[in-house]
This record gives sequence, C-alpha cells and structure tokens, in this order.
Amino acid sequence: MSQKQDYEQPSNQQLRARAEAELANTTQTDRDISQQDTDRQLYELQVHQIELEMQNEELRQAHNTLEEARDRYIDLYDFSPVGYLTLSTSGMVTEINLTGAILLGRERSKLINRRFASYIADEDKNRWYRHFLHTKQQRDKQNIELTLIHANGTRFIACLDCLAIEMKDGLFMLRITLTDITQRKLAEQQLRIAAIVFESQQGIIVTDTKHLILAVNRTFTSITGYTADEVVGKNPKMLQSGLHDSNFYTAMWKSIHDTGVWKGEIWNRRKSGEVYPQYMNITAVEDLDGIVSHYVATFSDITLSKLASDEIEHLAFYDSLTGLPNRRLLLDRLEQALASSTHSGKNGALLFIDLDNFKTLNDTLGHDMGDLLLQQVAKRLTDCVRENDTIARLSGDEFIVMLENLNEHALDAATQTEMVGEKILAALNQPYQLANYNYRNTPSIGATLFKNHVRNSEELLKQADIAMYQAKAAGRNTLRFFDPQMQANINARLALEADLHLALAENQFELYYQLQTTHDSHAIGAEVLIRWKHPRHGLILPEDFIPLTEETGLILPIGQWILETACAQIKRWESNPHTQHLQLAVNVSAKQFQQSNFVAQITQILHQNAIKPDRLKLELTESLVLDDIHDTIHKMKALRKIGLRFSMDDFGTGYSSLAYLTQLPLDQLKIDQSFIRNIGIRHADSVIVQTIIGMAHNLGLDVIAEGVETEAQRAFLEQHGCLSCQGYLFSKPLPIEEFELLLTRS
Ligand code: C2E
Ligand code: MG
Ligand code: MG
Repeated sequence: MSQKQDYEQPSNQQLRARAEAELANTTQTDRDISQQDTDRQLYELQVHQIELEMQNEELRQAHNTLEEARDRYIDLYDFSPVGYLTLSTSGMVTEINLTGAILLGRERSKLINRRFASYIADEDKNRWYRHFLHTKQQRDKQNIELTLIHANGTRFIACLDCLAIEMKDGLFMLRITLTDITQRKLAEQQLRIAAIVFESQQGIIVTDTKHLILAVNRTFTSITGYTADEVVGKNPKMLQSGLHDSNFYTAMWKSIHDTGVWKGEIWNRRKSGEVYPQYMNITAVEDLDGIVSHYVATFSDITLSKLASDEIEHLAFYDSLTGLPNRRLLLDRLEQALASSTHSGKNGALLFIDLDNFKTLNDTLGHDMGDLLLQQVAKRLTDCVRENDTIARLSGDEFIVMLENLNEHALDAATQTEMVGEKILAALNQPYQLANYNYRNTPSIGATLFKNHVRNSEELLKQADIAMYQAKAAGRNTLRFFDPQMQANINARLALEADLHLALAENQFELYYQLQTTHDSHAIGAEVLIRWKHPRHGLILPEDFIPLTEETGLILPIGQWILETACAQIKRWESNPHTQHLQLAVNVSAKQFQQSNFVAQITQILHQNAIKPDRLKLELTESLVLDDIHDTIHKMKALRKIGLRFSMDDFGTGYSSLAYLTQLPLDQLKIDQSFIRNIGIRHADSVIVQTIIGMAHNLGLDVIAEGVETEAQRAFLEQHGCLSCQGYLFSKPLPIEEFELLLTRS
C-alpha cells in the first residue's frame, strides 16, 4: 500500500530570520519604506503561514480519510460475506480473503500457491476443469456451482462467480467470488420435496388461523370437485356433509388445541353433493415461537376401503347364502333388544324355525335345491315380519325371527307372537318352485318370550330350540311355546348327564338278573338288565338313562362293561352243574352294534372269559336290525358262526317285514310285553300273540314271552305253544346274590 508522504514546508523561525536579514541591508527611508514593506511582507507572511497551516490540516485530514478508507476496504475485503480469491493461469490460488479462507477451513498462508482444484469434491473436478478452460479461452464471466471440501472433511456447496482478467504476456488471472449456498440448496431441495408431497395422492388443505383456506392441492380438486379458485379464502366448513353434530367438531378442535393433531374418519360432501367418507389428519403448524400459524389437513377418500371393510363386516355378520344376519349378529341384536325391553317394559319374542325333512330334500334333490329352498324361505320370512324385526339364519335349516316391542302383558305378547307364527307357518306351507321342481315343505316353530333380561341370549335361544323340538314331537308343521316345566326336565337331564360320566369309573352300575324259565318252571337262564345306583337319587332304571348314554356315546364303554360282566358270570356258573346250562340274554344298543369292530369285541370277550359262546344271547330290537339291514345280517352271521345266539326283543312293536325276518340268522322271537299284558283283555292282542308264536314255529325259531305277570297269561301261552317265559310271575329282575338264591329254591 502507499506510504505517508513528507511535505517540506519552511518553518516560522526560518521565515522570520530570512526577513530580518533582508532588513539589515536597507536605508532609513528605505527603512521606512522597507518598514512598510516589511510589515506588509510580515502580514503576507502571516497570511501565508495561516494558509499553509490550513493546507497542512486539509492534507492531514485527507490523509486520515484515505487511511480510514483503506482500512475499511481491507475490512470489507476480508470480512465480506463472500469469499474472494484469485487464481493464476495454472489454477493456483494467488490471493484469498479471510472469508474465503474460513469457508475452506484453512489459514490464508496455507492456501496461497495451492491448486484450487484440490478443494473440490472428486465428482465435480472434471466439471471444474472444463469450466476453468472455457472461462480462460472465452475471457468472460461465468459462474459454476461446486461441492467444496472443508479442511475438516465436511462438504458444502458453493457458487463461484468467475471473471477472467487479461494480463501481460498472454497470462490471465481468474478473479472468483465464492458464496456458500449449501443452506439455499437444502431449502430449494426441501421446497422441491414439499412441492412433490403437496401434489401427493392425499388431498391437502392449508388454512390460516382464522380457518380461511390458503392453498389446496390437485388431489383436493380431484376428490372434492372444487378447484383452488373456488375454495381459497373460504372456510373448509363448505365441505361439511351435515352428518356430524357439533359435538363431533368440538371434540375435533379440542384434540387439535390439546395435542396439535386430530385424525379420524369424517364424512364430507363433494361439489356434486355426494357425501363420502374421508380419512383426515389435521395438524396445527407452529412458527418458531411456538405460536400456531397454519392448519394443514391431509385426507384421503376412503369410499373404496370403506366399501371393502363394509363387505368384510357383512361377511362376518351376515349369512352369505341368504343375506340374513348370522348367529353373531343375532346375539348382538338380542342383547340390545333385552336391554331395550328392560327399559321399555315391553315383551319381545324369539321364534325358532326349523324346516321339516330338509335333510331329505338335500339327499334327494341335491344341495343346490336345498340352497334354493333356504333362499326362498328367507324371502318369505322377511315378508312376514315388520321392518324392525330381525330375521337370522342360525345354521343349516334353522332360522330365528326376533320380535320386539310386543305387549307388556305376557299373555297378549304370546297372542301377538302366535299370530306371527301362524303367518310364518302359512307362508312356508305354500309350494316352492325349485328350478323345475314343485316342492312342498313345512316348518316346526318354537317360541319363547323375553323381557327384563331375566335370561341371557344363549338361554333364550335354547328355550326357543326346546320349544321347536316340542313342535316336532307334536307332529311337525306346528308352533309350540316354551314350557318352563320342560326346562326343569332338561336341567335335570343335563345334571344326570354330568353324573353319568362318573358312574362307570365309580362302579355305580349293577346288573340285575331276570329269570327266563320254561312254562313248568325250569330255569333256562336270565336276561341281564342294568341298574344305576346313583349316590343321591338311588336306583335309576335303564329307561331313564340308557337313551342318554346312547346320545352321549357313553353306551359304548357301558355296553362293553355289561358284556364283560355277563360273560364273567357265565364263566362262574360253568363249574356248577346247576347253573352251567344257563344262558344269559344281553340287550345290545344300536350304537353299540353299529361299531365296525363289534364282532371283534365280542369275540375277544368270549375268548378272554373262555366261555361257550352259545351261553350268550344278544337281544336286538327291530329298529336296530333295520337301520342297516345288510351290515346287521353280516355281523349277525359272523357272530352266529362262532356259536352266539340272537333274540329279537320287543317283537311285534316294530315294522319288520317278513321278508327281512327270514334273512336274519335269528334263534328266538321275544313277544313284546304290551301284547302279553292284553291277553284275555284285548282280543286283537291275543291274536297277535298266537300269530307270533305260529310264525316262530313256522320259521323254526324259539319263542319267549316277556312281561308275563299272571297265571292266566302263562296258561294261554302254554296252550298256544309258547313254552318259554319271563315276567314278574316268575321273578322280578334281581341282584346276582338274590337271583342265585332264587335258583337254588326252584
Ligand atoms: P327290555 O329289554 O324289553 O327289558 C324288559 C323290561 O321289562 C325290563 O325293564 C324289565 O324289568 C321289564 N319287565 C320284565 N318283566 C316284567 C313284567 O312282568 N311286568 C312289567 N311291567 N315289566 C317287566 P327294565 O329293566 O326297566 O329295562 C327297560 C329297557 O331298558 C329294556 O327293555 C332294555 O331295552 C333296556 N335295557 C335294560 N338293560 C339294558 C342293558 O343292559 N343294555 C341295554 N342296551 N339296554 C338295556
Ligand atoms: Mg330285553
Ligand atoms: Mg323287551
């Protein structure tokens, strides 16, 4: 920089000395004259001196100003917000300001004479070389954006304004202004992202804090039908459907105020007027001071997904064949109905509808026809009831009609229910057109009333179900109301069933033996009859629990136990000459006989006990035999082959045709006690007894009468050729000890 100059001005002492020397060389006049001159000169000198001083001051001031300007320039240069640097022809840094050095993170001295390219990120180096060459050749002003590397390794984006300056000898200098534009670039990038996000698949509404719309995106337009021009400046209320009450919006804004967001499903209205569901997310946007500046709502049209979820809900709650509510939805509605009946005091009713012989339709015309029938039944049921009543399909051919708001008095409510039931009966009795078939079907209907939540839903369904079974038992195609006595019986039965599961393990069963004898009182053997010695109820007869064991399958282990016990008894009798000839008759249930391994089971028991097979006689009933006649014959033959005997129990009560009878490998017919009882009382029965005896003889079969109670009956039987008897006349069924005592007496 330029140095301070020396300004050589004569001093005041020098000027005075020079004036006095001139004065010494002059005359008086001259002196006077010269005095005047001197004064004038002095005056001029003084003026000059003042002028010089003034000049000096101005110069100093100018000098100071210049110095200040120079300092300012240096400050401006060094502390400028942008970096300045110059590069030599070969691309070396020749000069750089403080800002430039700070941007590159290096001391100025370490940058001078270094290749500028070494601070450029690798991927940008080639671009820089091309740019450098171009600027050099064109000698013009160009700018370029480069990624530069700070000494600490971080990268930043810089904009370089490059000016090529011609120098002597064909050299040139590149003057560069360096600006860090990293933040700007990031902001630009974020803006670009925001712009893309803004035009996303979601509709977007931006409002100010006064809830006036500032901006919407294109998706908003495509969902709502409104263009930006139509909504900007307006309140988003214009989109409301009117389906939500003010509480809904109050809760929404409370959530936004409390938590900054609200999300959920909301129904809005399109420009077309169509109301549709949206999933919406509203966020309060805060400024740097944490004060809400905007609200941004993003939303999607969930019409389709709602349809899909409605469809899923439909599948979960409705029967796909008939479109009626399923059991789940019915129970749900029943719960609501129970609650509202408690509230209103009104009765409700359940009608349990079961189609008669539906299985036969499925088996004969096929399931397609069965489906058609169910659909038509659903339609007819719908026509029979009011819109508010519920019709549901429980399963298969079972439907439920639930009536609500019936009369408060049970009797009147029952009458109302009966009327609906009769209407349903009539409707379902009309012929159905199933494809080409003209088909007739009838329903059995069970009904029960409900009020005040006395019973829960499942219990009520059970009651209606029980009543329906009563309708079936009453001959079908009819309506029956649930009877509480029936419920008591059922409860007792359920309790008995629970006890039955323990009975075998706890040895509560016992076999009684009822003597079978010749007409002249010679013991032939006995029929074994099971008894249940219940710990609380005492002795229970088979009729009260055998059907239950058949239903539950318990008859299988129990039946096995009976056979084993009977065979063990035969074995014990074998060694005694008085008893070794005795035959034991064992009753066999259908379920037991139908087991595929029944023959093997019997064989094994006989084998285990090593008894003569002809000492064991199985009593079968006609219904058992007819159930699967071919299988029965097959099994009977197999067992008879090993020596077993068969008796046809309760003969005469079934419907066995003579043709089948001849095919069965039977040994004996056992005349049912109902005929024996009427001997001498009802002529027809006496005739039947005679006929059976004759038939047995003709077929070469034994015949035995059961339930012989009187001497007259015995005499009649003997007279007509039935020489074997069983009945109270001879003995009641007895425990083994008493039975053996009886044997010793006879
Ligand atoms: P069932 O096989 O026809 O047995 C004859 C029933 O008549 C027995 O009733 C017997 O006690 C009764 N009885 C015998 N003589 C007379 C009589 O003179 N007068 C009257 N009024 N009744 C007489 P119980 O023991 O109550 O058995 C009833 C039914 O239970 C049996 O009819 C049989 O079907 C079934 N049952 C009994 N024990 C068994 C068994 O161990 N297994 C199977 N599967 N069923 C059995
Ligand atoms: Mg029997
Ligand atoms: Mg019998």
